[in-house]
Order: sequence, then C-alpha cells, then structure tokens
Amino acid sequence: MIARAAEAAVDAQIRDSLYDALAGSDGVGIAMCDRELRYVVWNRFMAELTGLSADQVLGRHVLEMYPHTHDARMEEVLSRVLGGETVSLPDQRYTVPGVRSGWVWVHYRPHHGPDGAVAGVVGIVQDVTERRRAEEENERLAAFPRESPNPVLECDAGGRVVYANPAAARLAAEMGAPIERALPGPGHADLVRGALASGAAVRGVEVRVDGRVLSWSYHPHPALGLVHLFGEDVTARRAMEERLRHEALHDPLTGLPNRRMLMERLSAALDRGRRRGGGPALLFMDLDRFKLVNDSLGHPVGDQLLTAVAERLRPCAGEAGTVARFGGDEFAVLLETGSAAEALRTAARIELALAAPVGLGGCEVVTSACIGIAVATAQTDGPEWLLRGADAAMYRAKARGPGGCEVYDRAMHALALGRLRTETELRRALDRGEITPHYQPIVSLSSGRITGVEALARWRHPERGWVQPGEFVGVAEESGAIVELGRRVLLQACRDAGAWARALAREVAVSVNLSVKQLAQADLVEQVRRALDGSGCDPARLRLEITESVLVENPEGAAATLARLKELGVRVLMDDFGTGYSSLSALHRLPVDGLKVDRSFVAAMGRDGRAGELVASVVALAHALGLEVVAEGIERADQLAGLRALGCDAAQGFLFSPAVDAAALQRLLAADRAW
Ligand code: C2E
Ligand code: MG
Ligand code: MG
Repeated sequence: MIARAAEAAVDAQIRDSLYDALAGSDGVGIAMCDRELRYVVWNRFMAELTGLSADQVLGRHVLEMYPHTHDARMEEVLSRVLGGETVSLPDQRYTVPGVRSGWVWVHYRPHHGPDGAVAGVVGIVQDVTERRRAEEENERLAAFPRESPNPVLECDAGGRVVYANPAAARLAAEMGAPIERALPGPGHADLVRGALASGAAVRGVEVRVDGRVLSWSYHPHPALGLVHLFGEDVTARRAMEERLRHEALHDPLTGLPNRRMLMERLSAALDRGRRRGGGPALLFMDLDRFKLVNDSLGHPVGDQLLTAVAERLRPCAGEAGTVARFGGDEFAVLLETGSAAEALRTAARIELALAAPVGLGGCEVVTSACIGIAVATAQTDGPEWLLRGADAAMYRAKARGPGGCEVYDRAMHALALGRLRTETELRRALDRGEITPHYQPIVSLSSGRITGVEALARWRHPERGWVQPGEFVGVAEESGAIVELGRRVLLQACRDAGAWARALAREVAVSVNLSVKQLAQADLVEQVRRALDGSGCDPARLRLEITESVLVENPEGAAATLARLKELGVRVLMDDFGTGYSSLSALHRLPVDGLKVDRSFVAAMGRDGRAGELVASVVALAHALGLEVVAEGIERADQLAGLRALGCDAAQGFLFSPAVDAAALQRLLAADRAW
C-alpha cells in the first residue's frame, strides 16, 4: 500500500516535470482532470496564472476550483470534451482578483485511457496577453487616424511617410516619400528619429501650409518602429491670438501703437543705441486745447480730431520711427537714431502737419501740440527715464504757451529734482505750520480806501527764508498737497479777518484762492462753513477766487458746488480773467459774482492802447452782467487813473502794497489811508 502510494507520488512527479518540459515554462499551462472532473495534473504555469498551488488543486473538482468560470458554458464545454470533442476557446479574458488578469487561449482535448475510452480532459492554457494588447493597440491606432478630421501621418524610422489618413491625403499623396515632402520646413525627419530614440512625444511643431497653420505632435511607438504625427489646424486660434496681441499693443481709436508697444520698442531701441553709441530720441506731445474741443463739440468730434491728428503724425516719424498714442490727447514719437537736432526737425514737421485746420462735422478746428524731447545719453537708465524726461520737457513747453517745443536737458533735470525735493519738504512744512497767508490790500477805486484783502500763501522755509507761491503752488497742485494747503490758508484767513473786525470795528472782505482740486472735494462746503464758524468773519465778507480751469475738470460739478457755497452767503470771483481760452464761457457757466482782470492786461495799459481797450471792454461786459471788477497788478499811478476812468470797482497791486503779514496788514487798515 505504502509502496503503491510512493510509486504514485513518483509517477506524479515525473508526470509534472514531463508536462512542464513539454509545455515549456514560458507561458503554457497544462491541467488535466479525470472523468469525474477532478484535477490530476496542475503544472507550474497554472499555479503562476491562478495563484493556486498544485497542493490546493489536485483532487478537487474543476467547477469547485473555478467559481468564477463556473458558467453554463464551462459545463457544456467539459461535457463536450468528455464526449470526445476537442474545443478551442481563443482569447479568453480572465481575471484572478489580486493575482493577475489578461488573455489566454485555452484548448480542451480529451485524453484516453488504455482502453481507448475517454479518461479525462486535458486543458492547455496559453497566455496571449502580450499579443492581444499589441493587437488592440494596433487596432486603436489604426482606427483613430482614419476617423480623425485632423491630418494624421505615420512615419517609419527612416522618416518616410507610410500612412496618411484622408485628412492628410493632400499633404502626402505618395507613400514612402520623405516626411519633409509632406511638411514644409527642415528637421521633421530628425524629430521623427529623436522621438523614436527617446520614446517621448514632441508637441507643438508648427507648420504653415496653404495659408493654414498646423500644429503637429509626434507620438513615437518604439516597439513598432513607427511615429504617428497628429496635426491640428490652429489657424483660427493663431489668428485670434494675433488679433489679441494686436489689440494689446495698439490704440483702438487710431490704430497707432499704444504706450505698451512704444515702451517695448523704446527699450529695444535703447539697447541698440547703447551698442551703437547714440540715440534714440523720444518726442512726447500733448494737444493744446483738446479738452475744450471735447467738452464743447462732444466726444465723437474729439475722437475725429484724434484720428485726424494720428493720420497727420504717421508720416512725420519716417520709416524707422514709431508714432504711438499714449491715451487721451497724448502722443509719442520714437526716433531710432535721433539726435536732438533730428528730433527738433521732426518736431517742426509735426508742427507743420498739425497747422492746417481739421474739418470736423461742419466746423474747422485748428490744433497744435506742445512737444517735449528727450535724447538718450550714456546716463539714460531705461525707457521710463527717457519718457519722464520727454514728459518734463513737454510740461516746460506747455508752461510757455501752446505750440511750444522743449528739449530735456541738465537744467530741466535739476529742476525736476528740485520739484521733487519741494514736494517732500512741502508735506513737512504743512505739518509744522510753516505755510501761512499774507495779505495784499484791495482798494476800492471809488473811495480810495482798503475794503478788502487777498490771502496769498507764504512759506517760511527754515533755510530758504520766505518762499513765494510761484515756487510751490504748482508742485502742491500736482501732488495734491494744495488741498491741505488751501484748507489751512482758508482757516487762518477767516480767523484773521475776524480779528481785524473785532480790533478795528471795521469789516474787510477777504479773498481766498481756491484750487480746482479743492473744488472737487466732496466736503468743501462743509470745510468753508467750519472755517467761518466762530471765526468772527461774516460769510458775506468771504470771497473765493477760482480760475477757469475748473471748467476743464468737471464744470457741472463745479457749478453745483459753487452754488452751494453761495448759499452760505460767500461770494465767488473769477481770477486771472482773460488769460485762458474760455473766460467768457466760464462767466456764462459758473455762478460768479465778479472777476479779476489779469495783471498782464493792466501791465500793458497805457503803453499799448489795445490792452487799454481790452480792459475797457472787460469792465463794460462785467458791469453789463452785473459783476464786480477787480484789477490786479497796479504798479503805476497812470494805471490807477486809467482804471478809475473806466469805472473799474477795485484794484490791488504793488502801487498800494505787496502782500504783508497779518499784523502789518492790521496796521495798514488802522492807518486807513486813501489813494
Ligand atoms: P493770484 O491769485 O492771481 O494772486 C495775485 C498774484 O499777483 C500774487 O502773487 C501777488 O503777489 C501778485 N501781485 C500783486 N500785485 C502785483 C503787482 O503789482 N505786480 C506784480 N508783478 N505782481 C503782483 P503770488 O502771491 O506770488 O501768488 C501767485 C499765485 O499763487 C496766485 O495768483 C494764486 O494763483 C496762487 N496762490 C497763492 N496763494 C494761494 C493759495 O492759498 N491757494 C491757492 N490755491 N493758490 C494760491
Ligand atoms: Mg487770486
Ligand atoms: Mg490773479
């Protein structure tokens, strides 16, 4: 019995190794069962495939071991084989959870006993997963290109086109031709070889064909020795990107390059200039009176004017130059190799180009521009530096009147630095109370006595002594410090006026200058009310001097604020009358009580008969409108006599007194002299 068992065990061992040898150990499994469907053979690969060892399997029922394949088909197959048939089941999907999954090819055949009757079933299992996967991949690859509306090419390792899908048929009509014949541009064969060698896809290779832009990606299949090239038509996308880029770099109204593009070009031109040792030059310009056109004729007309100016500027810069619109009525011209002389010639060309009137919706507008020029030097730091220089020069030109042109130089640089220093010092000066009003008497021309004063800001600088407004009011306007400055002057002026009234029992009108920036303050009316409250200054004695520049900023808002100020009882005067462009329209649009004739007209009186006439007509006009007229800058007795003769109401000037401090003013009032 023992001997029989040992014999059987030896038999089984021999059988197993025999089957393994037969099947090879590489991917062929052999299993066998007897008529009762109990396993009698289970080779190594079967164990590998299923995760079940021979010990676990031998002697057990087939269907018991394979619960997952225990379907009706399995039973049917086994009974067919026991009936003598051979059954082949190609490409069976199998999954042993947690062990493996894949594809097998199973052959079932009967085995026969010595009596020739069927003694059981032999199952031969071949793992075909690899082949199956390769086939699937091929199928997938083969199907994909054909169905794609995008062009697809297949190249062999030698860079020859071996397949083109219908969408690529126009590119590669002939198979076997080098890829370069299908795709213009060199290097495609190298890309194919490179992709195959590295096994990594290459993307975004753009090719222009027949006005289309195709973006290709190369997908290598090293195992197949093939590269698939997938093309995508990106024409529309590129066109859109191109348009967006154009929009980002151009001014939509005029089509000119915008600030960003100019700065990019300027930056590049500076690099070239440094290598070459000269240039570029930048002209920065601002149209004169543009706001006026915009406000009086409307925005559409303003736009037309800008477009017309752009058209005229375009040819002024020459071939290599760039004309750009910076926004609003600001333009810039970049001259690649400009010297100051060349830039000035260009400025002259621009002046000439702008000189002819522009026809705009039935009327003709004459326009001009102020131009600032900056030429790059070895010290030029960068594009912003040059722009700031040109801008500063433009402001300088503007200060001299319309149509001017200035070249940025060292002096201007020093001036700009000085302004910067003033701005910083000004803040500190306000904190420390270094800025206070002085007062210039205003004399009634009928009585010859002082009836009012104008408060004029003075800065007692710790090192520079008394500083005049000409040196800081402009800077304060620009930096916004004018708001705080004006508030303090107003506060002090009301207090001083109250003090004089108490001390001398005499009411004196006090004029305070109001900046456009103050007028834009939402709480200005409140500020004025507070300044008057408790100061002892009668609101009817306070005059606020505005300039017509308020018309430029926000005329409706300004008019409304002035109206509310007047409800407090305060009077409003138009300062520097006649120096602007819209003096008359300012009188019309703003609720003013009087005007101050600018001292340039008074200065010209007597010597120039025409200026005398001008003052005469201003006085007549003001009186016709029921407005009070104050003349500024009376320096000579003949001017005083002239103004008296014209019926001018009041006057101020060095003839009577310059601005003096509050104590000195009180003494002047007490003396009560008559002129
Ligand atoms: P403005 O309001 O037109 O003031 C008159 C200017 O003319 C004053 O200059 C005054 O000193 C000067 N002036 C008066 N009489 C004569 C004269 O007979 N001959 C000459 N040549 N000049 C005369 P100032 O004080 O230098 O002020 C200049 C400008 O600064 C003022 O012009 C005003 O626009 C501005 N300003 C002064 N103080 C303030 C202020 O507190 N706030 C604001 N927003 N601006 C102020
Ligand atoms: Mg004034
Ligand atoms: Mg004035």
